[in-house]
Amino acid sequence: MSTPVVELRNAVKQYAGGVRALDNVSLRIDSGELLAIVGPSGSGKSTLLNLMGTLDRPTAGTVELQGHDVTALSDRQLSALRGRSIGFVFQQFHLSEGHTATENVATGLLYAGTPRRRRKPLALEALDKVGLSHRATHRPHELSGGERQRVAIARALVNNPALVLADEPTGALDTATGQAVLNLLTTLNSTGTTIAVITHDREIAAQLPRKVEVRDGRLVEG
Ligand code: ADP
Repeated sequence: MSTPVVELRNAVKQYAGGVRALDNVSLRIDSGELLAIVGPSGSGKSTLLNLMGTLDRPTAGTVELQGHDVTALSDRQLSALRGRSIGFVFQQFHLSEGHTATENVATGLLYAGTPRRRRKPLALEALDKVGLSHRATHRPHELSGGERQRVAIARALVNNPALVLADEPTGALDTATGQAVLNLLTTLNSTGTTIAVITHDREIAAQLPRKVEVRDGRLVEG
């Protein structure tokens, strides 16, 4: 059996003050999956995202990213692993205003040790995958919301990550544009990209092949 992309086993996250944001959570994501992690505000989605994305460590239980136990790694080793394994997509795009679409996408390679001369061609290739070759030299303020999110998706893809974690990727977009972004994620998945979409929106979750619900810090599949 192949190594999961990410696996949580009985993961607990307790914050100072005693709030148990995640309670005994087990979740395995395999290569090639497209899943929704859905739940209302306060249910524990961000906490789960932070554990899956290795931005935080569990209080108890284990989190493995591509077979590496995150609690056994130093901060430096963990950020190197994260840099080559995960592409993040955020609700508010987080693009750099002073830079072109190509330059923004190329920042996804900064921590990957990619030689400078390789960065631009790879960024252009990623922009092509999201259908934005014709906007390569535009800056974020010259792009629509949907186009900005495509740039951010290209940035997440440029390093060919094992997992794309998309945190409310349609949350800042109108329904039609959000749907187009979701369609793009579905297309990218059909060509091999593993993607987890974190959302509070049940209609979005219902469109994806796998759905995991977070309720009061616990997971319910189906
Ligand atoms: P969601 O992303 O679904 O809105 P969160 O993971 O942000 O949920 O929060 C889950 C629970 O953990 C909530 O009760 C929240 O108040 C609590 N929580 C989140 N972050 C912290 C923190 N840094 N310190 C204390 N409690 C937190």
